[in-house]
Amino acid sequence: MLSKPNGSTTNHEKVISVAVNVPLRRLFEYRLAADYPIPPQVGQRVTVPFGKQTKTGVILAISSFEDYHGDLPVEKLKFITSILDEQSLFGPSLLKLYQWMEKYYHAPPGEIWQTILPSELAKGKPAERSRDSIWQITQQGREALAGNQVAKNAIKQKLTLAKLNENRHGILHSRLADYDIQYTTLKTLAGKNWVLRDFIDALPIAHDQITNLPNNLVLTEQQTKAIQAISQSLEQYQTFLLFGVTASGKTEVYLRLIEQVILQGKQALVLVPEIGLTPQTLKRFKDRFNVNIVVLHSGLTDQQRLQNWLQAKSGDAQIIIGTRSALFSELFSPGIIIIDEEHDQSFRQQQGFRYSARDVAMVRASFENIPVVLGSASPSLESLINVDKNKVRRLDLTEKAQSQTDVKFRIIDLKKQSLINGLSRDLIAGIRHHLDAKSQVLLFLNRRGYAPVLLCHECGWSSLCQRCDIHYTYHHQSHYLQCHHCGSNRKAPTQCPQCQSEQVVPVGLGTERLAEAVTALFPDAKIARIDRDTTRRKSAMNDYVDAIKGGEIDILIGTQMLAKGHHFPNVTLVGLIDMDGALYSADFRAPEYAAQLITQVSGRTGRSSKAGEVIIQTHHSDHPMLSQIIHSGYATFAESAIEERVEAELPPHSFAAMFQAEAPFVDPVKTFLQDTKQILDRYSNLKVELLGPCPALYTKKAGKFRYQLFLQSVNRNQLHQLLSLTMNDIESLASAKKVRWRVEIDPVGD
Ligand code: ADP
Ligand code: ZN
Ligand code: ZN
Repeated sequence: MLSKPNGSTTNHEKVISVAVNVPLRRLFEYRLAADYPIPPQVGQRVTVPFGKQTKTGVILAISSFEDYHGDLPVEKLKFITSILDEQSLFGPSLLKLYQWMEKYYHAPPGEIWQTILPSELAKGKPAERSRDSIWQITQQGREALAGNQVAKNAIKQKLTLAKLNENRHGILHSRLADYDIQYTTLKTLAGKNWVLRDFIDALPIAHDQITNLPNNLVLTEQQTKAIQAISQSLEQYQTFLLFGVTASGKTEVYLRLIEQVILQGKQALVLVPEIGLTPQTLKRFKDRFNVNIVVLHSGLTDQQRLQNWLQAKSGDAQIIIGTRSALFSELFSPGIIIIDEEHDQSFRQQQGFRYSARDVAMVRASFENIPVVLGSASPSLESLINVDKNKVRRLDLTEKAQSQTDVKFRIIDLKKQSLINGLSRDLIAGIRHHLDAKSQVLLFLNRRGYAPVLLCHECGWSSLCQRCDIHYTYHHQSHYLQCHHCGSNRKAPTQCPQCQSEQVVPVGLGTERLAEAVTALFPDAKIARIDRDTTRRKSAMNDYVDAIKGGEIDILIGTQMLAKGHHFPNVTLVGLIDMDGALYSADFRAPEYAAQLITQVSGRTGRSSKAGEVIIQTHHSDHPMLSQIIHSGYATFAESAIEERVEAELPPHSFAAMFQAEAPFVDPVKTFLQDTKQILDRYSNLKVELLGPCPALYTKKAGKFRYQLFLQSVNRNQLHQLLSLTMNDIESLASAKKVRWRVEIDPVGD
């Protein structure tokens, strides 16, 4: 410990700038005593006094007393309470990435760190690895297995022994669930000395046998070309767009690249959409590689997440698979970033610190000098425009890897047709035809619940959520009204609350009602409805997937949960029940999203040798997007959609930012945005167009009124310059204190 030099008590003290989790765009300064036992470093966590509380923060700058020029006199600064980490938690490139995000997203530092840090670390818990243990089969166990000494009816014991026998390095205790092994079975086996448990720090890896290559899989020419192109760039930054139709073998390309990266002693980071991280996905990686694979997603406990994060940081995990925020894993030796289904909207964080994982991944990779691979059958217009600008290199996989069968599209014009609960006669005939051929049918409807409105036939009363001014969805089985906007719910009335009539009727179609209608039409078919309501139980989705693959289900009805990721080889008909909502939406991105959805949903069929069919029901059969998708494919649609965006100067051709404010009353919301506009107007020399303030698409949500102010420019730098020049003034506005507000860069949706 250093002793204080006599006389100059303050000379060797330091001023530490800390990001504290408050919604302010600034750091907070603290003093650190000269004799504090841990030397301060940028990237360490600290606890600091903040008002009457103690908060956890991250050190972002360290300066000497002489260099300090803050508003408060240095003696008035409070002392850091403690430094939590011996060393920085982050290497230089993540710190640089943070700095880039702070500048680009104009967000409060504390909010950004709240997203970067695993929640245990954000709460100030120690960044410590827990000790793991490993289960291995003993020689006696092997003999028992070989000599059939396991009791005939002890199936679990036998399976467990077999699994341990297959995994010659053993299975980590923390991963037993991945292998479907139960601790109680292991305890029984340990009692017989057939297995043993060892406490260890990390799973040893045999470098001689990293991959289990599938037998007789010969890469296609296009796959080979793509792999070669990306391999040549493994030591430098380059983003690739792997534009491959569903089942063209994109995942096989990722796996081959990951193999190369691991052989170089580096790590692979794989990001997947929120509902894409299925046990099936994970299994595919585990079957291929004998290395340590960790997952990072919201289904884990906070402690599991921290442990996996720490394995990525230490380099003990070679492959990290996760959703959006896994992008912020500190990596020991990053080698490649892969984003599967890069068009998916879940890569955009829509709460707190709002960012695009795709955009941030490209920036991170450029700091790390590694490649990024964006894969999709229906790429975002952002990525396609980046191809045009030579920022991204496109690689195509145009053929399915295994089958040659094409998908046949049919559009059914609903105008003047009589429908049976939303189903046209042609679609019903189609379903019957495919069922007769012993195939499975998937019906897609992106609206859960029974009906979107409950209406009084006598007086016209309807089920409005007062807090949002939109209709409650009626859920029949639970007999509840639920607002899909704010989540509030209440018991459904059996009598009209206004006129007491008993003629309250559901209007419109949700998945629950569709399932009822289909059951009546096809009483002999086994039907499964798959949406958020039927898959609340953790393993529910997997049980459904198993049942579908096992042929126990004839007709699947579902929302977009069914649109991605899963391979259902026996589905030959996909019916899109209602595409009107997507085609008539006020959001200029709606056709892009609809085109992606149709491409993804239709990718669920035509995977086997049987021909696939897609039937689309709509009142808007002449919509140009539909004919482009059907006759010439997604790429053609995307080209013309980009042309339209260029013409209208809309993103991604132009660049946008949005201020959104909300409060229980309209006036303060409008006042804040008008004040904001006035400040922005001071810099009229910058070529940024201001639009609004105007009501948000859903003006009211959960009792709050919401308004927006848009900034748009074809010059990205000028847009950011304007925000940098004005953010402090806007944040200090008196009217800012009366509302909740945020600024969002590259905003999407509501
Ligand atoms: P995508 O990720 O594009 O949907 P996958 O990589 O999942 O495609 O491939 C679809 C199926 O085709 C998988 O079962 C995969 O094992 C198989 N496959 C991939 N590449 C080949 C190939 N070159 N030859 C034969 N089968 C392949
Ligand atoms: Zn009534
Ligand atoms: Zn509501």
